[in-house]
Amino acid sequence: MTTINQVRSRRFVSDQETPFWERKRLHELTLEEWESLCDGCGRCCLHKLEDMDTGELAYTRVACRLLDCESCQCTDYPNRNKHVPDCISLTPEGAAQFRWLPSTCAYRRLAEGKTLDWWHPLVSGSTETVHQAGVSVRGLAVTEKLVRPTDLDAFIIDPEIADPDIE
Ligand code: SF4
Ligand code: SF4
Repeated sequence: MTTINQVRSRRFVSDQETPFWERKRLHELTLEEWESLCDGCGRCCLHKLEDMDTGELAYTRVACRLLDCESCQCTDYPNRNKHVPDCISLTPEGAAQFRWLPSTCAYRRLAEGKTLDWWHPLVSGSTETVHQAGVSVRGLAVTEKLVRPTDLDAFIIDPEIADPDIE
């Protein structure tokens, strides 16, 4: 859910300064700061199946057709809603719904009063650490272009794989 390759390589903090994600509340962030919080894991771009009776969500490893499964980036983020109308845009006001995101997700972490972990690009200064830490879907995701919708059940993954930081 991001276009932030450009901003990720910049440091938002000096050594003496408290980083913005610890200094500000979610609704106080600039758009650039908000977008930069996405670590580029690609986990929210995996298809989920909802049990109609219980509302329980099951993650699959099948990714939205716009996701590049190697870089874990959306290939047309500015126009994503034209291609994928149900792509969800996260907002500070929607923080109460962040429970459906993986517990590694920066938006969820900050909404729950946590901070960013070492592998987050804003902390490490590298977009690679999210992959090195096993947080991204690199090596896990398969594009929906290769999967029939009726076969999604076969791609359901265990909760601890769907959410590597599950508590
Ligand atoms: S789960 Fe969160 S951090 Fe990962 S891609 Fe989605 S919005 Fe970004
Ligand atoms: S359009 Fe697809 S790949 Fe792009 S951000 Fe939305 S869910 Fe992810």
